[in-house]
Amino acid sequence: MLGNSKTRTWKVIIILALVCMLLIATSVILVFQNPEEEQTTNIIQEPNDMSKSVLLISIDAFRHDYLECAVAPNLKGMSDQIHIQKLIPPFPSKTFVSHYSQITGLYPAWSGIVANKMYDADHNKTFSIGSASSYDSFWWWGEPFWISNQREGHLSGTVFWVASDVGIYGRNESPTYPTYYLSYDRDITYKDRIDQFFEWLELPKSKRPNFYTLYFETVDDMGHKYGPCSEEVIEAVDNVDGWIGYLIRGLEARGLWKTENGLNVIVDSDHGMTKTSKDKVILIDDYIQIDTSLIHCAHMEHLHLYPSLKNDFHYNDLECQERNSRLLSKSNSRGRANLNQNSPSQEYEAQVVNFSPVTQIIPAEGQEDQVFEKLVNASQNWTVYKKEDVPSKYHYSWEGNDRIKPIIVIIDLGWSISDRAYYEKYPDNFNGGNHGYANDYDDMAGFFVASGPAFVQENNSIEKLENLEIYQILQKIVGLQNPAPNNGTMKNIESLFK
Ligand SMILES: [Zn+2]
Repeated sequence: MLGNSKTRTWKVIIILALVCMLLIATSVILVFQNPEEEQTTNIIQEPNDMSKSVLLISIDAFRHDYLECAVAPNLKGMSDQIHIQKLIPPFPSKTFVSHYSQITGLYPAWSGIVANKMYDADHNKTFSIGSASSYDSFWWWGEPFWISNQREGHLSGTVFWVASDVGIYGRNESPTYPTYYLSYDRDITYKDRIDQFFEWLELPKSKRPNFYTLYFETVDDMGHKYGPCSEEVIEAVDNVDGWIGYLIRGLEARGLWKTENGLNVIVDSDHGMTKTSKDKVILIDDYIQIDTSLIHCAHMEHLHLYPSLKNDFHYNDLECQERNSRLLSKSNSRGRANLNQNSPSQEYEAQVVNFSPVTQIIPAEGQEDQVFEKLVNASQNWTVYKKEDVPSKYHYSWEGNDRIKPIIVIIDLGWSISDRAYYEKYPDNFNGGNHGYANDYDDMAGFFVASGPAFVQENNSIEKLENLEIYQILQKIVGLQNPAPNNGTMKNIESLFK
């Protein structure tokens, strides 16, 4: 009995020792297991089915025909599946206007962003891109796609998109941001932008977005400086194409490129580009007395983020200080400078809100007809409309939007508009390229290619598509149940999908 009892005790001790050794061995394995192996385990437990997810990439100012100028093997490869010949920007074809129209599915009159530079007289507020004012949710109407997406329990991750670093209401009761986002910073390298996307892509399923964005600005920078299809633009296109290649290789390595469960990828642009020259400039103050203080001197703190605005913002800080003090001394007898008045001083016949191919003009009170008459036939190279007469094809005369001003000047393709003082000081700023013209010029048309399991095997037959349909395309891919009201039409995009 005693012997048996001893044997049992030894057996228990041996079992306990074995259990202890096993526990120690397991903890050693856990301590030394590297994060990649852990991640592999996660991926096996939560398979990466990304067929209802989408990455939307914008290459700023990539004109519809740039694939013909450049080598761009990666973008050409994508065009084998889905290629829309011309992606039509909204009117006017400006960066902020277009990106926000795409992502809300709304024409600018209803999205709130009708120009890169705006003045709201009722609230006495000025909007200019790159300024603190552009982070005010007041300006941003409609609902960007990331909010619609998150309202249905999905997550979004944005490495830049116009307004993705602004709190916007949409249909929510408080300002909402994308789940994960970076504030716009043009100094973040393209590699870091794409690696950030990969980081989000590798999150465990419960934390992983189904909607991502990326944005690249170099093609726009070179287009403004050297003109479309210049050597520098071609180099920029091929450079971005190389980064698209880096992205594709990363997706391939994860089994997410051109596979049944792969990620859907769209590459598009906000507008095209056309050649400009200092010999084609209309100087508006040759025809009327204008006040340009809204343009020249408001909110220049982040202008370095938007170098392509050199024709919109004309003076450096010192010149602005001098100009403002001049305005203030002139206006002492009247109390306020012209800067903050709802209508321009009687010293001027009109206030110009922005110098852009679509220019907004506020005539002085009582001088509406007189200013219109002076401008309408002044140049062979512009068309001048009263707001209510802007052609309906532009969807730009909604009376409910006060940010669209009483007189709209539309410059012919390739022309520029300025005041004489600035033009004489910086004539070379008008050489190069520009966009922002009426959206029915072919040169203003943008680019669209896509690849992924949600799309049909091949469709190159759509000749033109308005870019506000992007909202619907995203909605279709992720399967939104309750999209925000928008100007898109589902039947325009149905042929893209299986
Ligand atoms: Zn742009």
